[in-house]
Parts: sequence; structure tokens; C-alpha cells
Amino acid sequence: MDATDHKWKVPPALAGDDSRFQRLLDVLPAAAYTCDADGLITYYNKHAAELWGREPKLNDPVDRFCGSLRLYSGDGAPISHAECWMALAMRRNQEYKGCEVIVERPDGDRRTVLAHANPFHDDVGKPTGAVNIMVDISDHGRAETALRDVDRRINEFLAMLAHEPPSPLAPIRSALHLLRRDTDEGVALEQTRAMMERQLLQMVRLVDDLVDVARIANNQLVLCKARVELATVLQVAIEAARPFIEECGHELVLTLPPEPIYLEADQARLAQAFCSLLDNASKYTERGGPIWLTAKREGHAVFVTVHDGGIGIPAGMLRRIFDLFTRVDGTMEQTRGGLGLGLSLARAQVEMHGGDIEARSEGLGKGSEFVIRLPLLLEPIPADPQPAYDVLASGSRRTCRVLVVDDNRDAAMALALVLQHLGNETRMAHDGPGAVQAAEEFRPDAVLLDHDLPIFNGDEVARKIRERPWGPAVYLIAVTGWGQDEDRRRSAEAGFDLHLVKPLDHAALETLLAGLRNQLPRP
Ligand code: ADP
Repeated sequence: MDATDHKWKVPPALAGDDSRFQRLLDVLPAAAYTCDADGLITYYNKHAAELWGREPKLNDPVDRFCGSLRLYSGDGAPISHAECWMALAMRRNQEYKGCEVIVERPDGDRRTVLAHANPFHDDVGKPTGAVNIMVDISDHGRAETALRDVDRRINEFLAMLAHEPPSPLAPIRSALHLLRRDTDEGVALEQTRAMMERQLLQMVRLVDDLVDVARIANNQLVLCKARVELATVLQVAIEAARPFIEECGHELVLTLPPEPIYLEADQARLAQAFCSLLDNASKYTERGGPIWLTAKREGHAVFVTVHDGGIGIPAGMLRRIFDLFTRVDGTMEQTRGGLGLGLSLARAQVEMHGGDIEARSEGLGKGSEFVIRLPLLLEPIPADPQPAYDVLASGSRRTCRVLVVDDNRDAAMALALVLQHLGNETRMAHDGPGAVQAAEEFRPDAVLLDHDLPIFNGDEVARKIRERPWGPAVYLIAVTGWGQDEDRRRSAEAGFDLHLVKPLDHAALETLLAGLRNQLPRP
């Protein structure tokens, strides 16, 4: 709509200066309109018509004082047009500044507005009309509500942490106490070990999730995408979720299309998203209930659905459960629920793959369905090269000498013990110069090298080792908390053969060292 369409009736108090006044209101980046002494609308600019979602009649008693369809006060109570700020300004011959009012448009949309109503006067001070300038603050209001919501959820999260200190730590502590008693009861020892392993895994997952949340918030989560088959991704997810599914006594019913479906995806990250859905289905379904995992191709997309017959989700929460730290209140959740991270991460992971995720439920007690849509890979891209440790053959010929370098002495000791247990000979070092010296004396076959070390860092250690006559033959493995392309490139430049991101996967490390041993000359 063009503002010049509107007929301008000069407010008597402004006669003689009407064109300048009109031009001013036309270009004002806010909604503006004027009324005459009878409250009839004499002018409105295009922002006013946009705000009202309609064009009121000029100089017509059907639209007195205001051009909106309906008005409400800030607390939602209806207000008649005869009680609006414009009407009050004229009736009381008084100026109103920054007064909140809610405008309802014909399409039902409501906008929150700050009204500034000013009466015009004649020479003897009698009101002859008024102007109202309205600023739409709905978006500010939404942003404020969103901020308040985030603040509330962070506080709830902190309260949750404070009241329930990360639960895995308590059993681990008790288990350590037991171990200290030096019991020789094999069964008890085995049970304690298994329990510690389970709790540690839970703790590692929690910390990993929190690290991922921070990475996503800082735009630092990098995907390593390659051509992968959906069935493989689902298999990885099912393997990860299986122990919990079995623990809860559920049956997983899997339905996949017969033809292979290819995606361009980061297999591990995408599997994590499916695993979260499977974990939730197990968590929020009564013991023994079935869980369905179904994939269906439609056009250029695949729809993967995780469906359960569990506690269900109230309609009002279907969107909100994807927000960070959000949980639905409920008895089962109080006993089983986590910290409200899983779905938020799953959504971010799916969206980074060009897809989306939706929750459906008929309501409480009626089960839930999560549908992930992912675009299919249309242009074939080369398959991901196999990681180095997969191509190395297994089977050992002699002991592998491994130097473990980490300034965290406990971490170094724990890793060295694991490696010794796997039949390797180990040495430890805890700073840059110490690492170079230990390498000189020990002549390792492989070095597991932390990046952040005192005096000089892991890259520097790697360079110095490579400069030695025996250096080029050493298998150098960077072990860091950073896995972005830039970090991997820097490691390669420093002379590393492999870049691993913490926490280390011990099974993969075992395969790698077995392969390395196989390549060593026979003693
Ligand atoms: P949590 O670790 O609390 O499970 P999520 O982000 O994975 O965190 O899920 C957020 C909330 O969504 C849960 O606390 C739960 O209230 C609800 N929810 C998720 N999946 C299901 C499901 N399959 N059935 C019922 N409620 C679910």
C-alpha cells in the first residue's frame, strides 16, 4: 500500500503546515494516525495499516479512535476503541507516552504496541484532534521471553546438578572404597569392575554431550562427511543403544527398505542422533514394551522413525522438548530422565545434515514418535578412506614399545596400564623436553602424544623426534581434545601419522597397535 493513497484531512491545529506534517508522518518508521475532534480517523500512514492488518475508513464513524480490529490491555483484557489511548488523550486532553496495548489483526495475529497519543489544541486550548504514534514491540517481547526462558532452563539445569550430583560419581566412589579393601572375592571384584565401567561410560557420555553443546553453541562442531549407507549408520546406533534396550527388556522391531540408501553424512554424529532417540524410547517406555525403528524412502529424502508405546508427550511440549535442558515433568522422568541434552543435540546434528526432526504424540500415555527426515545423496562422492588402523593387519610378532606423553600423570598412567595389559612395553613422559629425551632413550615404535604440554607442546616434540636419525620410523599419534580440520592439518604438518580425539577408543587403539606390531621386524 502506498501512503500517498490516503486522504489527508488537516488537523485544524496544524492547518497551514499540513504538507510538512504529512510528509513527516509518511516517512516515520512507526505506525501513525490522526483523529479529528469527533474521533474520526483523518489520516494513517502505511505502517499503521500494516500493523492493523486492514485499512480503516477515513472520516467514518465505523472506525472511531483506532483502525485495529480489536484491542487488549497488556494482561489480555479486551478494551473498547472508546477506551483506547487515543480516545483517552482526546477526552482527558492529556498526553500518553509509551502505553502498552495489544492490537489484534483480522487474521488473529496479535501485536504488542507502545502507543504515544498527543492531543491537538486550538488557540484557546480546546482539543481539536490527536495524533497517535505506535511502535510495534512484539519482537522485543518475544526475544525477552526467549531470553527469560533460556535463563530459567539454565537455572533449572544448575539446580538439577546441585541436587543430584552427577549420579555416576557416587557408585564409582563406593566401588573404589571396596577395591581398597583388597577383597579376594572374585565375583564381587568382577561386579565392581563392571559397575565402574558402566558408570564411567555414563559419565563420559554426559561430559561428551556437554562438550558438544558448547561446540554447537560456538559453531565449532565440524562434521566429517562421506558417502555412507543408512543401514550402516543405523547399525552403529543400534549397537550403541542395545545394552540399554536390553537392560529395559524392550524388543526392537526394525523395518528398512530393501534397497541401499546412501547419505552424505558424518556416520558417528548421525548415529549419535538415532542413538539418542532409541535411548529415549527405552527410557520413557514401560519395561518390555516394543520399540519400532522404521526407514522409508520418499522422493529425494528418507524418513527414519523411532516409535514407542511409552508415556507419550503432551501437545504443548512437542516442540519445546528440543530446547536445551528441557524435560517434561513426570514421575517416570524423575527417576529415569537425564539433563535434557539429547534431543537438542540430535536436532543440531540432524540439521547439520540438511534434515529436520519432529516429535509426534497423541498425548500422555499414548506413546511417542520421532521422525527424522534426511536428504538422500544424489551426486555420488568417493567413499571415506579407511582409517589407518583398520587397514593394518592384526596379529602380533613382538612387543610394541609405546611412549605415552601426557602432562596429566593419572591419564598417562591409566593409558600406559591399558597398553601394558595389551602386551606392550611402555614409558611415560609429562612435558616437552622429557618426551624428547624419553624417546631418545627408549626408541619407541609408537608415541601417543598429548598436544598441550609444559615447556613445549606436542607439535614441537613431534618435529624434534622426526629430526633424529631414527625419528622417521616412529609412528606418531597426536592425542588431543581438538578434532577440527585445522587441528588435523596442523598435526600432519608437525609430522604426526595419526590424529586421535579424546576420549580414546581403546578397542581401536588395540587394533592399531596390533597392526603396528605386525609390521615390525621379527625379533
Ligand atoms: P533427557 O536426557 O531428559 O531424556 P532429551 O533432550 O533426550 O533429554 O529429552 C528431553 C525430554 O523429552 C525428556 O526429558 C522427556 O521429557 C521427553 N522425551 C524425549 N523422548 C521421549 C519419549 N520417547 N517419550 C516420552 N517423552 C520423551
